[in-house]
Amino acid sequence: MKEKIHPEYGKTTITCACGAVYHVGSTKKNIRVEICAKCHPFFTGVQKIVDSGGRVERFRQKYGYIQGEQEAKESGNR
Ligand SMILES: [Zn+2]
Repeated sequence: MKEKIHPEYGKTTITCACGAVYHVGSTKKNIRVEICAKCHPFFTGVQKIVDSGGRVERFRQKYGYIQGEQEAKESGNR
């Protein structure tokens, strides 16, 4: 390898929000992630919505999960 044209490649740690730490080789240092193989629902089999800051709830209110149920009731009375 030529010197000084390659990024510095060394060992680093990836820290997940769930607390899992991975030791990997990378050109970056101290990577932080919010989800990883240990806590991702696909791997854990646990159904949970990753909802930081109530975004899912606001989406539901805005785009009619609650509204849609009310309309269904009203049309059923006719
Ligand atoms: Zn994780």
